[in-house]
Amino acid sequence: VLGAEFFHRWMIACGSAVDREADRLTELDSAIGDADHGINMRRGFAAVTDALEKEPPATPGGVLMLAGRQLISTVGGASGPLYGTLLRRAGKALGDAGEVTREQLAEALNAGVAAVAQLGGAAAGDKTMLDALLPAAEALGESFTAAREAAEAGALATVPLLARKGRASYLGERSVGHEDPGAASSSLLIAALAEVAG
Ligand code: ADP
Ligand code: MG
Ligand code: MG
Repeated sequence: VLGAEFFHRWMIACGSAVDREADRLTELDSAIGDADHGINMRRGFAAVTDALEKEPPATPGGVLMLAGRQLISTVGGASGPLYGTLLRRAGKALGDAGEVTREQLAEALNAGVAAVAQLGGAAAGDKTMLDALLPAAEALGESFTAAREAAEAGALATVPLLARKGRASYLGERSVGHEDPGAASSSLLIAALAEVAG
């Protein structure tokens, strides 16, 4: 079972991964966006790390809701509200349980992903973060490793797609041939989860 400390460590691992890969995320966004995705994500997870250190929540749901609030108020851009919604909705789904199972986390993440789809109006294949998050949340029902692999494969599969949502969609055909930055960052967050799960 997974307690608040596990979720805290997951968020810290997300911060490290985003920090390490910020330049690559910004490079991906310079090809089909406005070259700020790595900067946005780094700022957001630095705020998450700070907030968790100042007042560590006692429950898994509390950790995710606090992290989501921080992302909404600091990431900005399109991805801030979307990632914030993902974590807040998942946290809300976990309720005030002190410990949760991987299966419960998978269900909560599925609820979070559905909220992202509703907020952004995107679907699978639109070349967004959802192309990594949808298969990852689904595969988490099976195992942490399956989730990581599904997210990686989903992010890579955005390369040949035509962007239908967000800034990249303004490029039309010219969005083809590049990995979606948000799908790449989603893959990092899921890899961080698998890493913390050991
Ligand atoms: P901005 O485009 O405002 O600069 P970011 O660069 O931080 O924001 O994030 C861009 C990423 O956000 C995209 O690569 C995509 O994955 C994701 N995104 C943008 N719009 C949507 C949407 N409507 N639904 C889901 N994801 C989206
Ligand atoms: Mg951008
Ligand atoms: Mg921007």
